[in-house]
Amino acid sequence: MFKDTYDVVVIGSGLAGMTAANILGRSGHEVLLVEGHHQLGGLATTFKRRDGIIFDVSLHGFPVGMIKSCRRYWNQDIADRIVQLRKIRFDNPQFQLETTFDREDFTNILVDKFGIARETVAAFFNKAREMSHYDDQALTARELFDEFFPNRLDVVRLLMEPITYANGSTLDDPALTYGIVFSNFMSKGVYTFRGGTDLLIELMTEELRKNGVDILKGSPVRKILVEGGNVVGVKVKKVDGTELEFRTKTVLSNANLKATIFNMVGQEFFSKQFAEKAKAVRLNNSSTQVYIAMKHGFMIDEDKCGDLLFTSTEQLFDSAKLLDKKITSRTFSFYYPRTRPNTDRCYVVSSTNAHYEDWDNLEERDYKQHKENLIADTLDILAKYIPNVKDNIDWLEAATPKTFARYTEHWNGASFGTKYEGLAVSRELNNEINGLFHAGSVGIIMSGWLGAVNYGVIAANDVDAALLKRN
Ligand SMILES: Cc1cc2nc3c(=O)[nH]c(=O)nc-3n(C[C@H](O)[C@H](O)[C@H](O)COP(=O)(O)OP(=O)(O)OC[C@H]3O[C@@H](n4cnc5c(N)ncnc54)[C@H](O)[C@@H]3O)c2cc1C
Repeated sequence: MFKDTYDVVVIGSGLAGMTAANILGRSGHEVLLVEGHHQLGGLATTFKRRDGIIFDVSLHGFPVGMIKSCRRYWNQDIADRIVQLRKIRFDNPQFQLETTFDREDFTNILVDKFGIARETVAAFFNKAREMSHYDDQALTARELFDEFFPNRLDVVRLLMEPITYANGSTLDDPALTYGIVFSNFMSKGVYTFRGGTDLLIELMTEELRKNGVDILKGSPVRKILVEGGNVVGVKVKKVDGTELEFRTKTVLSNANLKATIFNMVGQEFFSKQFAEKAKAVRLNNSSTQVYIAMKHGFMIDEDKCGDLLFTSTEQLFDSAKLLDKKITSRTFSFYYPRTRPNTDRCYVVSSTNAHYEDWDNLEERDYKQHKENLIADTLDILAKYIPNVKDNIDWLEAATPKTFARYTEHWNGASFGTKYEGLAVSRELNNEINGLFHAGSVGIIMSGWLGAVNYGVIAANDVDAALLKRN
């Protein structure tokens, strides 16, 4: 029961696309949400295996701001299910510690364990908190750390490693992209969604329908139609081969920024200058993951493992090296039955940042072998924390950058969209083509669960203003 014409078509149901569609539907606009995949959520997703096994792909942790954003732009029920993770652990040759990952606890650790003066720590936190998009972008994270903690590679590791994991940023990225994300976490720690990502997406889908949003799944948009510099519609090719066309003057794409510009619209519709700027935007890195379902009733030792564990045997921290295929660093997320009430299963998901090229260039047989190696290495590392892990696994599999590319159509399977320069390109789309907007992972701040939701809000407001002006 779809209409031929909509006020706005949202392409992609990542957290940014869903949030934008919800706000626009709630405001009374006729909205069509088109998703290429057979389920909603984008990277905020789950997959199921036999015997009730269910894996969360990107539910590892997000800042407290998600509660407020969900309350305002979704509903109270969703906001109420967000709970804090209490035990974040680090284990590497430079230090071993456990933290609630908030300003007070981090301050105490930096002062008592690392011997940094309290005033220095306070000055660093204040500087990070005051950073904004208007700041000097030439200052790198490396220079920021040098200013406060010169020659303290251990301190840099503590401050940077989780953020590198959380959004792929390196020491050479603008300091503000580090400062804003770090401060978001430091305000009150790390949070998760109780009930699992599938419940979150189910509740969001209900809310979308309540607000009158039409949802079309399994339907990749293959063309955004443009005439005379204006958006006029979209062409969809469903997975069963059926082709559909919808008329609209406004498209909000939640798909990869470069795919939106170069695949869906086409370079010829943009000014030469803009196309060059868009081409120069760098993609962010991708990830590998190992998904482990423990046998029914097997309990992981919470005291030893905690909720999130950043572990590495590398002597020194090097943010660029964290992308290397041979890296021994792993971030483990431990899920206990309380995450998903009514189960007696524990899960472990191991994540590592990765380069797409390292996996794309492999012959099929080598690709399978590298996946097996990734799984075997990960289990060896995990055995330090769960000694009998190998005897108690019910299901085991791995995802690579190619998996992420296949499921989301993100160029190079980027886990966090594009680097920071993508933000300006994303924001300028509507100046180039009337009625074309974008929301989704661009720049480090606009990615991750909270960043994506908040960028969806910003883009929805832009679309709303454009629609009101037009009427
Ligand atoms: C392994 C991993 C772990 C992560 N862990 C965390 C974490 O712990 N905390 C955190 O905050 N963030 C985490 N993230 C990042 C976070 O999941 C993403 O930044 C966020 O979910 C991205 O949302 P988005 O709105 O940008 O869109 P995406 O999730 O990228 O979704 C885009 C959607 O657009 C659809 N689409 C693409 N092209 C088309 C088309 N042509 N037609 C129709 N639909 C299309 C895709 O199918 C997809 O559904 C993680 C990411 C990865 C990969």
